[in-house]
Amino acid sequence: MSTINIAIDGPAGAGKSTIAKMVSAKLGYIYVDTGALYRTIALYITENNIPDEDIEKSLENADVSLKFIDGAQRVFLGGRDVSDLIRTPEISMAASRTSAIPAVRAYLFGTQQKIARENNVIMDGRDIGTVVLPDADVKIFLTASAEERASRRFKELSVKPDCPDYEEILRDIIQRDYQDMNRETAPLRQADDAVLVDTTKLNLEESADQIISIIKEKTGGGK
Ligand code: C5P
Repeated sequence: MSTINIAIDGPAGAGKSTIAKMVSAKLGYIYVDTGALYRTIALYITENNIPDEDIEKSLENADVSLKFIDGAQRVFLGGRDVSDLIRTPEISMAASRTSAIPAVRAYLFGTQQKIARENNVIMDGRDIGTVVLPDADVKIFLTASAEERASRRFKELSVKPDCPDYEEILRDIIQRDYQDMNRETAPLRQADDAVLVDTTKLNLEESADQIISIIKEKTGGGK
C-alpha cells in the first residue's frame, strides 16, 4: 500500500514546524522536521572544526539518525540525542551555510525518502516539494512577512536568557532567506503545484485549519 506524503516548504520562522505538528497530530501522520537533520550535520561540522574541503569525506563518519519517541522526532549524532543542542542561533546560521553543500544534501536525501516511503508523513523543509518528494500528494508553501516571522521568533526567544534583540533576529532571518533562496543546489522555492499559505495575518489554529482543509480536499479525507 502506498503512503500519503504531505510536503510543507517555506522560509525560516513561517511556523512550519508548529503548524505541521498540529496538523499531523490531528490526521495521525508522522511529522518529519528535515531542518533538524541539517542542523545536526552543522553541529557535527562545528563541534569537530571540520574545514570546508574535508566536509564531504567526513560525512562517512557522521552517523546521524532519527527516532520517533511517543510520536515526537528526536535527532541523534553518534548515538547522542542532540535535539535540544541544535536549537541555537549559531547552529541555525551554520545549518543554512552547510546545507548549501551538495554532498550534505545528497547525504540526507535517502534518509528523508525512506521515511516517506514507509510512513504517512508531513515533512517540512525547503526542498521537499521540489526535490525530495516531487510526487507528494499535497504540497504547501507556507510563508509570512520577514517582520512577522522575526517578531514571532523574538516572542519565542524572549523568555530565555541572552535573547537577541528584534533587529538582530530580523537580520538573521533575512540573511537565511537569501542564502536558502539563492544557493545552487535545491534552493528554497515554491513548487509549481504547491498551494501558497500566507500566515502573516493568521494565528496558529487558523493556519492549521487552512492546511487541513487543503489536505482533505486533495486527498479526499486526509488519511
Ligand atoms: O527549518 P530549519 O530552520 O530548522 O532549517 C535550518 C536550515 O537547514 C535552513 O536555514 C536551511 O538552510 C536548511 N534546510 C534545508 N533544506 C531542508 C530543511 C532545512 O536546506 N529541507
